[in-house]
Amino acid sequence: MIRADLVVRDLAEVATLTEGAVPRVGSQMRELARIPDGAVAVSGGRIAWLGKERVLSREVRLRPGGTTVDGDGGTLVPGFVDAHTHVLFAGDRAAELPLRVGGASYADIARRGGGLYSTVRATRAASDRELVRVTEARLRRMASNGTTSFEMKSGYSLDHAGELRLLRLIPRLARRTGLGLVPTFLGAHAVPPEFRGRADAYVDLLVRRTLPAVARERLARFCDVFCEPGFFTVRQSERLLRAASQLGLGVKVHADEFVLSGGARLAARLGARSADHLLATPPSDRERLARAGVTAVLLPLTAFASSPERRSPGREMVDAGVPVALGSDCSPNTWVESMPVVLAAAVHGARLTPAEALTAATVNAAHASGLEGAGTITVGRSADLALFPVRSADLLGYRFDVRPALVFRQGKPISPP
Ligand code: FE
Repeated sequence: MIRADLVVRDLAEVATLTEGAVPRVGSQMRELARIPDGAVAVSGGRIAWLGKERVLSREVRLRPGGTTVDGDGGTLVPGFVDAHTHVLFAGDRAAELPLRVGGASYADIARRGGGLYSTVRATRAASDRELVRVTEARLRRMASNGTTSFEMKSGYSLDHAGELRLLRLIPRLARRTGLGLVPTFLGAHAVPPEFRGRADAYVDLLVRRTLPAVARERLARFCDVFCEPGFFTVRQSERLLRAASQLGLGVKVHADEFVLSGGARLAARLGARSADHLLATPPSDRERLARAGVTAVLLPLTAFASSPERRSPGREMVDAGVPVALGSDCSPNTWVESMPVVLAAAVHGARLTPAEALTAATVNAAHASGLEGAGTITVGRSADLALFPVRSADLLGYRFDVRPALVFRQGKPISPP
């Protein structure tokens, strides 16, 4: 008999995502390993049992004081993993929106010292306490929408001490929220105003000083770079990422978002963990990503907000055999705190099926974030779960704004913020 302190029952479906290699590619992305009329038992924050509800009472006993959750005919899925976020920032850019909708591009606004640079000014000026306060509130709202683990980038300070400061706040946020936070060093988010026209000198600073400090203090799992004209060239990006790799960090690339920057090709050449955005990646470079096993992290709401003439290439990437993961890209540019809305954008915009989108937002996103073992409902693994009031996982991504009834991180309910 298995002892449990939490049982979730009366579920139309449990989508376990347990079958297949990680990351999933091609038709494997449509395999959710579903248990119809399933139930799940949790002990000590981990999945202790899962199976058909009709055998639950024979195999599982609830400990005194334990909790039974009535799923009310809903669907249980793994807590989402958000594979690409910039949630550590102060301020907002609402005042720039009229410019943007009037036709100014992301790069235009940045050139005029706005956009990302206005967020850099606000973030540099904010105290640690203020940054933790606003970021913690954001993370809690995102968790109440079903996300239990996040890749989380620095990148809004763009100076040595400030970038280290941002990375040092991430473990503090992880302790305060209990959420899974994977830090990525994105000191090369843009060329800082102090280095205008001297991108090489800034890359020099990052390679000689900041990256070694990041590695020494183990402040980040990954290093990322914004490889795009007006930001960092392929040569500069490669120099930075090779240095990161030698220091033991995994590498990621913001690639081909506005134009064919060569970022995806670079990611394939370096065997990066992921290449992200990919709105302008040609078919030949999709093949390169597939051959190199680089996960494509797609951000369909950023395509919608920043590049309305383009569509995130979900269908094309899956069909090319590239493992696909999803991220919100939550930032002051694309401020989205709901992974279910990202799934809907992935289905209706990037042309993934709902099952592919769920795979991309769980097990494949976990792989892209270096969280092997997350993103599935597996006995022995952390009980990170989202209960949705729908009869099947196929309704996620179909409906735009389904909200979870309950979310658990390590078996504990996430209280609404
Ligand atoms: Fe990004």
